[in-house]
Amino acid sequence: MSAYWSDFVKTLDPYVPGEQPKQTDLIKLNTNESPFAPSPAVLDAIRQATADQLRLYPSPESDRLRAAVARYYDLSEDQVFPGNGSDEVLAHLFLGLFRHQGKQILFPDITYSFYPVYCRLYDIDYQNVALADDFSIRLQDYLALPPETVSAVIFPNPNAPTGMAIGRDEIEQLLIQRPQWVVAVDEAYVDFGAQSCVPLIKKYKNLVVLQTLSKSRSLAGLRVGFAFAQPELLEGLVRVKNSFNSYPVDRLAEAGAIAAFEDQSYFEQTTREIVQTREQLSEAMRALGFTVLPSKANFIFVSHSQYDAAQLLASLRSHAILVRHFRHPRIASFLRVTIGTKKQCETLIKSLSEIVS
Ligand code: PMP
Repeated sequence: MSAYWSDFVKTLDPYVPGEQPKQTDLIKLNTNESPFAPSPAVLDAIRQATADQLRLYPSPESDRLRAAVARYYDLSEDQVFPGNGSDEVLAHLFLGLFRHQGKQILFPDITYSFYPVYCRLYDIDYQNVALADDFSIRLQDYLALPPETVSAVIFPNPNAPTGMAIGRDEIEQLLIQRPQWVVAVDEAYVDFGAQSCVPLIKKYKNLVVLQTLSKSRSLAGLRVGFAFAQPELLEGLVRVKNSFNSYPVDRLAEAGAIAAFEDQSYFEQTTREIVQTREQLSEAMRALGFTVLPSKANFIFVSHSQYDAAQLLASLRSHAILVRHFRHPRIASFLRVTIGTKKQCETLIKSLSEIVS
């Protein structure tokens, strides 16, 4: 007879991230990283912190970082909760605020695949709400559910992997009509053209917004993410963090993140270029016969009626280009393509035109 723990361990169902290949000469359009290096000011700040601060423990409260981000977003410091990437902040959110006995949390059936993983790990009951036929998130469908059976709702805006965004006004209606629910908006991709809900933080006690420096600030390797909310709600995350007795972010991450928020022109220049490239790539893909969902993110979600997505993925790989495919039946005909540099996207189009011609 096998030990109890050996069967139990097999029930733990981890998140499987996109491939990080060892081969370095691939065009990597599979995990929504930025194609640009971080701002030179960020690299300087990290170098400086390495020389001056690395022998010291980091601040347990990340106070300099919280102050800088609060200033940037016109929030107060106690409305900012940093962590090691927004995946870690999400873990704190699920543990701290989503484990209500006898109630469910809601999220779309097609969304960031980490949400169901956290639910299973932390024993959180959840219900999926199907996307509309056009793949948009329809908040009326959430409002149609019996409110007393629900404790929280979470969705990315723009959604992943569709890239489609909904307006702030619509989310505000949900906040007004369901003040008893926690409404969590995961804004990992918000800087590429969607409307942020951060300006609503002061108004709504039930709103929590998550952001990351991994995408629009080119810092996926540094691992810095945030939750923004009123302090009463953030207290749930703070208590979870305190239980782990861990520092939110290390000294190099703190120095780099502060510098990233200070270099606004680099941020604007790089996000603008990604948005322009996204629009050009979308047009070129449509010209090759692809359906391209309207994206406000740094990736596009595409399908071709005559070509199998898994086969396209394999063909692109043989052209040294990595993209992402998901097995969920409703989106199995789609590929998610991260926006690279203009040159990378031109190479992608050249390869695809050979493959689908
Ligand atoms: N939310 C969404 C919707 C994402 O796609 C990702 C990136 N995989 C994250 C959060 C996590 O980003 P990070 O941990 O790098 O901050």
